Amino acid sequence: MATTLEKVAERTWKRTALGWQLKCRQGEETFTDTNLLDLLISSPRKHKIFKIPKPIEKHLGADWLWYVGRPGAWRAYLVQAKKVEPDGGYKSVYHKQSFSPSWLGISPPVRQLDVLEGFARRFGAMPVYAYFNHYKAAGLPHWHCCQTLDIGQLGCTLSPSSTVKLPGLTGKDGFNKVHAVSETLPWRCIQNCPNINVQTQSKALFRAPEASIIPLDEDADEISLEDFLRRFDFQMEEIPFLPKYVVISTDESEVDEETSI
Ligand SMILES: [Zn+2]
Repeated sequence: MATTLEKVAERTWKRTALGWQLKCRQGEETFTDTNLLDLLISSPRKHKIFKIPKPIEKHLGADWLWYVGRPGAWRAYLVQAKKVEPDGGYKSVYHKQSFSPSWLGISPPVRQLDVLEGFARRFGAMPVYAYFNHYKAAGLPHWHCCQTLDIGQLGCTLSPSSTVKLPGLTGKDGFNKVHAVSETLPWRCIQNCPNINVQTQSKALFRAPEASIIPLDEDADEISLEDFLRRFDFQMEEIPFLPKYVVISTDESEVDEETSI
C-alpha cells in the first residue's frame, strides 16, 4: 500500500501539470502547506507537524525542519522547498535575501543557501532542498531510488544543499541537472524506501546527523511547540530564524494506519 509520502508525491506530480494545463498554477507555498497538512491528516500518529506563527515567518532560512526516524534515532533535515516551472527550471533556487541573521556574520544581501547551511550547522541538521515537480521528459536518468521506476514519485524529491551550487538550475535544464545527481531521491526514500538499508550505505541523505536529543516520547500527542523548542534550549531571540514548520515523522511499524487524502 502506498504511504502518505508516496501519495502526496504522486498528487504533486499530477497537480503541477494540471495547474499549468488549466492555467491555475500552484505555487511552492501552496504545495508546502497542503502537503504537510496532508501528512498530518492521513497519519497523525506518524507525522507530527508544528507550524511556526506567521509574524516570525519573514525571517526564515528554511521552510521546515524535519525529524525522521523513531525515538532515540532521529535524522534531522533542514528543508528549503522549490517548485519547478513549466520550462523545467527552478526560478528562485539562487534566491538572495536582504535580511541576514547576525549569527551568520555575512552582510546582506545574503544567499538563502548560506542561511540554510549556516542554520543547519547550528542545529545539527542536514541542509536539503525539497523539489516539487512535474517534468515531461522525466525518466530513468532522473531516478536514483533502488526501487523500480515510478515517475509520480518524482513529484516530491529531496537533495543535499550542495546540488544548489550547480549552475543553470533556473533555466530549462534545472530539473534535469538536479535529478541527474545520484543523491537526489524521492522524498519517501528517507522514511520508507523498502531497501533503505541498501541506500543507507551509499546516499548522502542517509548520512544526515542524528539528533542528540529525542524530540518525542510516549506523550508525543500532547507536546506543544513551546515544549519542543524548550528541549532545544532555545533563546527567544533565536526564534525568528526558525523554519515555519517542524515536522516529525516516525517510521515505527505499528503506526501504519492511514486515511485517504
Ligand atoms: Zn528509494
